[in-house]
Amino acid sequence: MSRIVRTLVVALTGLAIFAPAVPAGAAEFHAAEFHRERPTTVFVTGDAPGEAEKPAPERSVQVAVPAWRYYITASCASRAAEIRRGAAYWGNGVETTGSGTPVGCTSGYVTGCGAARAVGCNWGRGQRIMLSTMVRDFALLAAHEFGHNWYGHSGTGCASWTNANTVMRTNMC
Ligand SMILES: [Zn+2]
Repeated sequence: MSRIVRTLVVALTGLAIFAPAVPAGAAEFHAAEFHRERPTTVFVTGDAPGEAEKPAPERSVQVAVPAWRYYITASCASRAAEIRRGAAYWGNGVETTGSGTPVGCTSGYVTGCGAARAVGCNWGRGQRIMLSTMVRDFALLAAHEFGHNWYGHSGTGCASWTNANTVMRTNMC
């Protein structure tokens, strides 16, 4: 396992009544979001053992990152616009046809990221990114995983678009 691995994992309280890796699971996430009396669904980030934590971004809207490149693979064809929105958050990125970070998508969990229920992963600071379409805000998940090219997690709580610091929070809610 790479030292530089970030994951977003889903921790479900109680019994795992939500079937994993199927569209019905995504629907349940919406339900959990808007009906908080229901069993809580929490997306928790995990780190590979022994990984050195990268710095968290500052609490500012503008973050300057070095020039970078990425490309969207066929598995993400239907979600490309959201991925581009996530990439655009950081600026200085160039979408290519095959160089830079490959971005792949899955309708299920992301495997091989050190967690049973990961919904996103960035291996090797941009060597490869995988995103799960199960999350409510897919563009935010994309922004979060792209952010791991440079940054670690800023803290626990629900990620949001407020600023770079909140984008890099540990949970997708
Ligand atoms: Zn993360």
